[in-house]
Amino acid sequence: MKYRARSFAALSLALMLSACGSSQPETLSILAMDTAMTFSVYGDDADTVLSDASLEVRRLDALLSRTNPESAVAHLNTGDQIQVGEEVCGLIAAAQEYSAATGGAFDITLAPVSTAWGFTTDSYQVPSQEELDALLAHVGMEHIHLTEDAATLDPGTQIDLGAIAKGYASDQLGALFQRSGVERGWVSLGGNVLTWGSRPDGDPWEVGIQDPAHPDESSALVCSLFLQDAFAVTSGSYQRYFEQDGKRYHHILDPKTGAPAESGLVSVTVVADYAPGNGTMCDALSTALFVMGEEDALSFWRSGTYDFELVLVTEDGRVLVTEGLADQYAPAEGSTYVFETVS
Ligand code: AMP
Ligand code: MG
Repeated sequence: MKYRARSFAALSLALMLSACGSSQPETLSILAMDTAMTFSVYGDDADTVLSDASLEVRRLDALLSRTNPESAVAHLNTGDQIQVGEEVCGLIAAAQEYSAATGGAFDITLAPVSTAWGFTTDSYQVPSQEELDALLAHVGMEHIHLTEDAATLDPGTQIDLGAIAKGYASDQLGALFQRSGVERGWVSLGGNVLTWGSRPDGDPWEVGIQDPAHPDESSALVCSLFLQDAFAVTSGSYQRYFEQDGKRYHHILDPKTGAPAESGLVSVTVVADYAPGNGTMCDALSTALFVMGEEDALSFWRSGTYDFELVLVTEDGRVLVTEGLADQYAPAEGSTYVFETVS
């Protein structure tokens, strides 16, 4: 039996920061929410904004982390009715909305299933179908009961906000930038990027999408996106996985089977303009559309339910870019992927 585990997600989105002009940003990197994060801010108050940004992310980590026994989410998962507060209830309500909108592809009650695969503890294993079936009986958003500031879970049900928490954090950092009058900067929260304003030379920021075939080489990209005042969030099967008996098992689970989604996609990047709540939306949708696969993801995009654009990387080496990004991307130099614009 062979195990190969990647405990830290490689940054899926890398910001290329060369040639930014003369003005220099203040930059801070921290480890939080189980990933590496970087904040970069221009302007006189940059130091204060960076320290506020770090405090805010750490506050959210302490509130939302499922593995921190002191967090509101961990308390909720003990089975008691918990006054988790309006903020956590609001985020669970958002998760309910995205679950309903995606036909159940997004489901925060997969937590015990994720644990059975070892993704919360890094002690990986392939659970038996009987074990998965028993756990799936408690999976489904109907097992969450919500009021404005309190929540209860049915017995056997637990939640994990890992697929949405970093997106919510990026929303909160956008709100902080707005309150603080930040003119330009960016944040990268392990695959969740917010670009704020433009680069000092007036050009958009360049955000690289990691090549899923080379997850350990941060300079190996599929393509670059050129973005200003926008969120970009990537979910990929290369971000966290283990291998057993020559087969790869990754962390994005299909709620129908309880197993890693086999959708034909290797990464999904969701892009949306900056607006309050859009960071959360991009994070939820990148996970959900990964589960749904190429055809359903593109139908969902065409339905216009939400305003966003997509870059899908398929197992067979294609890159599908929705038309709203047609003049905002460039394939990486020497890329062997086949690019298609989708309308
Ligand atoms: P992300 O990196 O945002 O795609 O989120 C992936 C994480 O969300 C996983 O590590 C699990 O903790 C959790 N998760 C896995 N599958 C799903 C799903 N179908 N819906 C919601 N959360 C999920
Ligand atoms: Mg997500």
